[in-house]
Amino acid sequence: MSDTIFALASGAGRAAVAVLRLSGPDTDRIVAALTTGAPPRARHAALRVLRDPSGEVLDHALVLRFPGPHSYTGEDAAELQLHGGRGVVQGVARALVTLGARPAEAGEFTRRAFRNGRMDLAQAEAVADLAAAETEAQRRQALGQLEGALSARCADWADRIALLLAEEEARLDFPDEDLPEENAAHGAALAALAAEIGAALAAGQAAERLRDGLTVAIVGAPNVGKSSLLNALAGRDAAIVSARAGTTRDVVEVRMDLRGLPVTLLDTAGLRPTEDEIEAEGIRRTLARARAADIVLSVAAPGMPHPDLPSSARILRVANKADLEPGQAGAIAVSAHTGAGLDLLLDRLGRAGEEALEGAAPSGFANARQRAAAREALDALERAGYAQAEIRAEELRRARFALGRITGRVDVEDILDAVFSRFCIGK
Ligand code: GDP
Repeated sequence: MSDTIFALASGAGRAAVAVLRLSGPDTDRIVAALTTGAPPRARHAALRVLRDPSGEVLDHALVLRFPGPHSYTGEDAAELQLHGGRGVVQGVARALVTLGARPAEAGEFTRRAFRNGRMDLAQAEAVADLAAAETEAQRRQALGQLEGALSARCADWADRIALLLAEEEARLDFPDEDLPEENAAHGAALAALAAEIGAALAAGQAAERLRDGLTVAIVGAPNVGKSSLLNALAGRDAAIVSARAGTTRDVVEVRMDLRGLPVTLLDTAGLRPTEDEIEAEGIRRTLARARAADIVLSVAAPGMPHPDLPSSARILRVANKADLEPGQAGAIAVSAHTGAGLDLLLDRLGRAGEEALEGAAPSGFANARQRAAAREALDALERAGYAQAEIRAEELRRARFALGRITGRVDVEDILDAVFSRFCIGK
């Protein structure tokens, strides 16, 4: 942690401005060596000429200093806003290495922020989610978590468990004292905690879906216009449209932003009896994906009925090729060719998506790591409800420890690598 690290915080590729971030004890020395004139005032942008150690001018850049501990990482930090060309970034990066900084590893800035108590682990994960957010709904979820909604809930649960635990321990330590016998209020508090965590776990599934996106599988007989529909919905030519039956042999995926919700549309192989081995494999995959999808668009067309689907997902019945013949009642009539009915279909899809995501709250669990820890806490609480006094205290301790792992308040060395490895460099 005593190294001074740097990374390109803005995206790779051509841009007007590139942001290089620095953090560590040598930050001020390195910035001073790179620039002439007085060091910029803390948290004020100053225009400076950057030179490498041989004196060659590298760029005219905005320089910002963020002295620790009031910086993102909690250490002395700085930002160099350079002209965006790759040659500029490379030249400055080389100078930084010469001056003693080293390139940061993925997630290293946020890892330092966590170490220095600038944020907890759930918030650190929210930083990665925010950097990856593709839709507004994902942004809201990640921001809520970054602002500490989930952390506050976990802290509240942990505090309430600590109270119950204190009672248990008092009973164990002073068995002769006249402590109130294990009372109904104690049991009710335990049950209420378990119910809240259980509800948050159920909602967490929606939150995780929101993070990873909903899947919508388009399913139907060959030639009903599934690929055409996917293209029309996605607004671009993503799947091959062909008049020959059986062209979509595998599953084609398109990620799209459906009125603010992250959605992956799947175009699938047409469902029909077949002797062709490859096509049969495509159909097998289609059925598997349809079963796992959040929403299924069951597509029919004139003379081609809706498929039988072994799926528990929400099914929207769509009658395509409405320009040729109106579909049956109960199905949403659309034409992938003329675009008729697509707005209505998008509305229905959006509504079905919102239903699927109902309950996704910023205070819900956003990923599998958090949910596993919460489940462990819940299991321990449920066991505590039935156990004898000695074991009950142990189970409560276990529950509190599991909740502490969500925010990283307890020893979490073993999970840090897993959490921070999914960050991009420069975060
Ligand atoms: P898939 O096999 O279900 O994916 O169907 P395709 O999207 O490949 O379309 C099959 C055929 O139906 C192609 O010739 C399309 O041009 C045609 N088609 C698709 N949608 C429509 C539509 O809304 N109206 C009409 N008239 N033809 C369509």
